[in-house]
Amino acid sequence: MNEVLQLGSEYFSSQFGGVPDGLWSAPGRVNLIGEHTDYNDGFALPIAIDKRTTVAARARADRLLRVTSSSFPGMMEVSLEDLDPDALTGWAAYPLGVAWAMSRAAAAGAPDGAGSGGASRMSGLDLALTSDVPAGAGLSSSAAVECAVALALNDLWELGLDRQELARIGQLAENRVVGAPTGIMDQSASLLGEPDHGILLDCQSLVTETVALGFAGAGVGLLVIDTRTSHSHADGGYASRRRSCEDGARRLGVGSLRALGPDDLPRAAAQLDGQTYRRVRHIITENQRVLDTVAALRTSGAAAIGPFLNESHLSMRDDFEISTPELDLAVAGAQELGAIGARMTGGGFGGAALALVRNDDAGDVAGGIARDFARAGFTAPHIFPVTASEGARREL
Ligand code: ADP
Ligand code: MG
Repeated sequence: MNEVLQLGSEYFSSQFGGVPDGLWSAPGRVNLIGEHTDYNDGFALPIAIDKRTTVAARARADRLLRVTSSSFPGMMEVSLEDLDPDALTGWAAYPLGVAWAMSRAAAAGAPDGAGSGGASRMSGLDLALTSDVPAGAGLSSSAAVECAVALALNDLWELGLDRQELARIGQLAENRVVGAPTGIMDQSASLLGEPDHGILLDCQSLVTETVALGFAGAGVGLLVIDTRTSHSHADGGYASRRRSCEDGARRLGVGSLRALGPDDLPRAAAQLDGQTYRRVRHIITENQRVLDTVAALRTSGAAAIGPFLNESHLSMRDDFEISTPELDLAVAGAQELGAIGARMTGGGFGGAALALVRNDDAGDVAGGIARDFARAGFTAPHIFPVTASEGARREL
């Protein structure tokens, strides 16, 4: 057993006694490109990373759900009958929100019928979470929890849901129970990731395609610069950007901004107020950059995608206005120090930036950004490499 699984198992024993029935894990993700496009039915290219949340789980003879996390205090207990999406709060809303969404899917029967009758197989559970995905850094620790728990419950409750259905369950938990109006990108990446591949996600059809990154072969890699800042208006900012996009789509007579392309920009400029236009322009150009990035990876290789990453950052800074001084400094520093490309990643208003660097330059880039932050008087960033890794899986 590797060290991470050992830790997960030991943590379970320390909380509940005995040994778990099994261990499941799911990764966090970093979004290579395609930001705020998911709720606009657009394209994104996330990557499952080599940081994971593990859930050790054991079925109980009764109907009680107990969940505990090594990262957050308190043991939460609720019986399956009392699972109420409006009553779940704090970190336990993520794992128990998934339990609520799964029990709902089981009661309704899965779309393909596999889940019908599943409700009778639902026992209570003891769940213990351990993780090395930093929370709140834009690496989707929330989806890692949701997807690890969803996979565990799917197995233990024998629901037979497929990974696309599990992704939607994670999203439902986050939207309905946590109350965060997020799209399906994070859960898709966490469930569908593969080593050295990105996941091209079409958020309209929900069709996904793995895209070879070829990073190792090209001698390049990704550095995450976690600024360790998060702004109190992040949730409000996210919701207001979402409203602007919906508003822009309505005024342009389309169901979602996905229906528009670069050719529609002049019409959008003529019909929309300046701010809504800039929000819309970000989404339209960002969708195009995702497709251009995929094409460049396929035809020219990893070193060719830098300009798309850099343009994506400018679009988020100037048009979507979701960057921060810390994120801008991280990106500018990476670019000056020779990164192939860099951009803020995740929802914005804090969190992390991403730099694609030649492996030989990684140390210099990281050191230079750390110095820039110190000089600016910013909180010291956490800078670490990530590699594209396998999605959620049963470990034991
Ligand atoms: P992100 O997904 O970018 O890390 P979010 O705000 O979406 O940030 O999710 C972070 C929240 O997810 C945490 O505040 C906590 O409630 C929950 N969470 C993340 N990791 C864990 C964990 N290991 N155990 C329990 N809850 C977790
Ligand atoms: Mg999240």
